[in-house]
Amino acid sequence: MKFDWNKYDEKPLSRRNTLQIFITNACNLRCDGCFARNVMGEEGIHMSMEEYKKVLSEFLEKGGEQINLIGGEPLLHPKLKEILDLNKLNNIKTTIYTNGYFLDRFSREDFEGVKIRVSLYCKSGGVKSVSKLPKFNIPIEICFMVSRGNSVDELIESANYIEENYDCNVFFISSIRELDNDRKEFFDDTEISMNVLKYKELVHKFLDLYNGKMEVHVSKRGVFESTKTVADCKCRFANYFIGGKIIQCPYDVVNMKFQDGYEFGCRNCQQNNSCLMSKIVLIRRRKNE
Ligand code: SF4
Ligand code: SF4
Repeated sequence: MKFDWNKYDEKPLSRRNTLQIFITNACNLRCDGCFARNVMGEEGIHMSMEEYKKVLSEFLEKGGEQINLIGGEPLLHPKLKEILDLNKLNNIKTTIYTNGYFLDRFSREDFEGVKIRVSLYCKSGGVKSVSKLPKFNIPIEICFMVSRGNSVDELIESANYIEENYDCNVFFISSIRELDNDRKEFFDDTEISMNVLKYKELVHKFLDLYNGKMEVHVSKRGVFESTKTVADCKCRFANYFIGGKIIQCPYDVVNMKFQDGYEFGCRNCQQNNSCLMSKIVLIRRRKNE
């Protein structure tokens, strides 16, 4: 499959020591492809501030740089503001992963210096559809999780709609898809997984047809090789769940392979090109470049 490098430039990336913290089990939705579906546990439990402070202090000792707040729906955590203030005070970069349904309850100022990544599944009709997103004046990034039913037209229409109606400069394409290796143990318990070759075809078609101004980020697992970013074989990622459970690699979340602890930059990873966290960032070239 030919990729038009005349249309895009790739931005080099570096990895930060990142902890993904599941701050709440509460969620207003029950999505088929939910990343956390096996670890959600009892409904409506929020992480206490006492626990959050402890996690943060251990994270800082380990050289942590970035925290991803996730759940459940992290905007439902009653002490979210306090959490964001604590992160800011400790110079931690924060990204919130949200379904976006409650963003109209917040203001731009609430998320100063925080990245909000809104996850969407489709253009209209189902849960997490672009058309169900409330109106708000908060800068966001979109993460469109493509699954079996999505078409390239739907992806293009969604990107154009988002660009016209929201303060968004990143359209991140990721997917609920099969693994491209023999283990195939990831997300094979849902009917909606997209075949990896179909995903590759869809992404290429999108990149060919998309004419908007947003950066296009693509989860590249088995789809692209980066031409700029040197593979880092040390893992810089871990997940922390309410109550102290830890799983370093997101691949192990579905299978609940809990660990005793985590360290950054120590664990060797053999599946770097297929790391769930790796992506490629593409920026449209201006006409005369
Ligand atoms: S909104 Fe997110 S946390 Fe909630 S069920 Fe859907 S995928 Fe899971
Ligand atoms: S795939 Fe490797 S680098 Fe990526 S999170 Fe898992 S262990 Fe870490």
